[in-house]
Amino acid sequence: MRQEPDPELGLLLEDIRQETELTAGYTGRAALDRRVMEAMAKVPRHAFVPDHLQLSAYANRPLPIGHGQTISQPYIVALMTDLIRPRPEHMVLEVGTGSGYQAAILACLVKQVYSLEIVTALAEQARERLQRLGYSNVAVRAGDGHGGWPEHAPYDAILVTAAAAAVPPALVEQLKPGGTLVIPVGNRFTGQDLRVVSKDEQGRVREKNVLPVIFVPLVDAEDDADR
Ligand code: SAH
Repeated sequence: MRQEPDPELGLLLEDIRQETELTAGYTGRAALDRRVMEAMAKVPRHAFVPDHLQLSAYANRPLPIGHGQTISQPYIVALMTDLIRPRPEHMVLEVGTGSGYQAAILACLVKQVYSLEIVTALAEQARERLQRLGYSNVAVRAGDGHGGWPEHAPYDAILVTAAAAAVPPALVEQLKPGGTLVIPVGNRFTGQDLRVVSKDEQGRVREKNVLPVIFVPLVDAEDDADR
């Protein structure tokens, strides 16, 4: 395992800044929140990437993590984190723990992260990794994220890191008034869009697509049995 701070991290942060500028026409964000960029600078991505891909750990692209899944592109992780406008007092739900990298970024910025992962082996690895790295404010559970994690609801923000066919109603229900859900919606035929779902203080829900994206699919529990 390499030691931090990694010199390639500086280049990655620069890539994220550039891609943020290039996509500002879509996202309305010419620059990301300073604290989000600080979290991106702090979390050692190489600790979330398999050994044989260490040389690519700080490339601005997704990488395979086994079980047909990926760790997301760092720019997308930063953008999604920025879109929920994280605050230190926030309780956040993530669906799709994967490597645990996005959860670690969130853990630097909010009070508590709950994360659901449908592949049990990935959930166990991520839980162990996050604990070893000292992210004590993340709880990981193996299970299907379509129904959210009702025991800890409502959440200030919910972040889904796999593409859903449609926004799961349970996730909208588990959002606090004033809360934000960020979720890729679509499929490989229609294409996917990163969607921001906002619930206002009166409980009214508005949706807005912010960027075309490519994510692995959010699978149904029944599909999972076939894998
Ligand atoms: N956030 C991750 C990226 C994960 S890729 C990271 O930072 O590394 C998407 C993850 O969603 C995969 O690990 C996949 O197994 C998981 N997933 C897919 N469908 C799911 C579902 N219905 N419920 C929970 N997790 C799901």
